[in-house]
Amino acid sequence: MLKKKIYTIILMLIISYSCSSQEVNESKFNFFAEQFEDIKVLRYQIPGFDELTLKQKKLVYFLTEAGLAGRDIMYDQNYRHNLSVRRALENIYTKYEGDKENKDWKNFEIYLKRIWFSNGIHHHYSNDKFDPVFSDIYLNYLLSETETVLNTDAFNIIFNEKDSKKVNLDASKGLVIGSAVNFYGEDITVDDVENFYNNVNSHDPSKPLSIGLNSKLVKDDGKTIERVWKQGGMYSASIDKIIYWLEKAKSVSENEKQAEAFGLLIKYYQTGDLKTWDDYNIAWVETTEGDVDYINGFIEVYNDPKGYRGSYESVVQIKDFEMSKKMSALSKEAQWFEDKSSIMESHKKKNVVGISYNTVNVAGESGDASPSTPIGINLPNANWIRADHGSKSISLGNILYAYENAGSSGRLEEFAFSDEEIELEKKYGKEGDKLHTALHEVIGHASGKINEGIGTPKETLKSYASALEEGRADLVGLYFLPDPKLEEIGVSPSAKDMGRASYDGYIRNGLLTQLIRIKLGDDIEESHMRNRQMVSKWAYEKGLDDNVIEKVVRDNKTYFVINNYEKLRVLFGKLLREIQRIKSEGDYEAGKNLIENYGVKVDQELHIEVLRRNAKFTSAPYSGFINPELVPVFNESNEITDIKITQPKDFATQMIDYAKKYTTLPDYN
Ligand SMILES: [Zn+2]
Repeated sequence: MLKKKIYTIILMLIISYSCSSQEVNESKFNFFAEQFEDIKVLRYQIPGFDELTLKQKKLVYFLTEAGLAGRDIMYDQNYRHNLSVRRALENIYTKYEGDKENKDWKNFEIYLKRIWFSNGIHHHYSNDKFDPVFSDIYLNYLLSETETVLNTDAFNIIFNEKDSKKVNLDASKGLVIGSAVNFYGEDITVDDVENFYNNVNSHDPSKPLSIGLNSKLVKDDGKTIERVWKQGGMYSASIDKIIYWLEKAKSVSENEKQAEAFGLLIKYYQTGDLKTWDDYNIAWVETTEGDVDYINGFIEVYNDPKGYRGSYESVVQIKDFEMSKKMSALSKEAQWFEDKSSIMESHKKKNVVGISYNTVNVAGESGDASPSTPIGINLPNANWIRADHGSKSISLGNILYAYENAGSSGRLEEFAFSDEEIELEKKYGKEGDKLHTALHEVIGHASGKINEGIGTPKETLKSYASALEEGRADLVGLYFLPDPKLEEIGVSPSAKDMGRASYDGYIRNGLLTQLIRIKLGDDIEESHMRNRQMVSKWAYEKGLDDNVIEKVVRDNKTYFVINNYEKLRVLFGKLLREIQRIKSEGDYEAGKNLIENYGVKVDQELHIEVLRRNAKFTSAPYSGFINPELVPVFNESNEITDIKITQPKDFATQMIDYAKKYTTLPDYN
């Protein structure tokens, strides 16, 4: 469940740092591809790809091909009829030449797009089977018009009530029998699963194997057995191709450790051996050098109602070179920032070390990670490997950026007070956000020390610890954003302007726009949101006498306008000093008062207004991505001389293209 957790955590991070860029769309790149039902399909770019060597580009290309080679697996894992339904409908989609303007055809198209988006006929999030909205008579007509064959069982399940839930977590309906997911034979019950795994022991209890991760559990002659997903086993045809591309990737590895990991992953796919899977994960987590990284395998188990079996997925990533440069420039100066901070001398660290934070850019996704994608990844899942060998935690920078920049244009104009504020935001907002994130992570969380004899914040500040900690890290960023030091070390083009843009964005979000995420009448619960409102409201209130931030109502619309950036910086410094004191001394009462008085309650009238002003910007609740296409360029001797990136024409074009290129499995497995 780790990935799930990280989705939420990283989502909070977006809320927390990226308010301003969420409101702009300054780039000419069109992130939005299309929208249907409750789905929005977006595009993303691959920043940094051109900085890779040819060898590294090949590595990225081979890994994305390996990922796509397993694409069919995810369909079959989700439901046993998915591949035959998808293929029949794709055949109709490409061959039908009749009326495409009527409602039935439109509904047919939407149904197929929903299947593509969810890798099957069940909703990717709610797990409910889709309602086709066209009739069985119409589907029969399309099938015969296009000479497409679909077997009776698969035809019927589109329209009947059978297998209505992909993953059923209501035990009264039977976790296994009640779930349509294709991880268990149709006659396997919860008892069968439990009996089977009660008899399987890990050879070493301190290093438990991920039993059941890579197989389907079935009955064979009355005996329960695993059909293992490996070369020569179930899904062999896909796995052969995955191995083919992994071998190629191995031949262009960036370093020894990476090559060793590829070797182990190949061996695992060949044997299905779960000890080899653990060995691979250890080698993978220890591969820390290099600019290219990836995930490939049967990984997250939340599609299995019993939590054993992993869904196939692949993500290929390259280092975020721009962010890495910023991080290391800041990290080198960590002591300078500590010494110049507004916190009390006695709370400063004598030897502060910057915290590293990993952001990458995605180059391709497949299986469970596509089109609906994670925005952060924290792996491996085995707890003992995490404890003994560590883990990798990354945030997918270009995916986050695409989310933030798709389809929300106009929101900045709605909530910013003046043209000047809008201009500054457009010019510096995005860069400023990145820099704020870097300062928050590398300098903010690393700064300050706890007095001797005082417990950890979790013990002393209890439920307020994380909101206060996020507030502290945000304030370190805010305090230094306008500092000329940032120009000096080459991370900011103009500390003054970028500082202004960041202050505008922070206040605008903390007092207005973040309220769009809260239901009317609710308090703010989430730590990052609490911290943002707390910081903004406190600064507004404490600056009232000097009119530092002014509340202006114009045409029935409320704005918060910063009149004095220098004084606001001083206020941020004061609050930082106070929150560091609270943390250093473990002052629960003071911490509680700050959060409760400034971070929790929402001004109801203002909330109604914000929701009203935002209503015109709301869009589909779920988003996912089409992948950029990596196109190899060959010379006369058939060697790859370059890899070019192009964007697919649209969602359907890419899906049909994938179906042609990456059909690796039979209809039933
Ligand atoms: Zn943080």
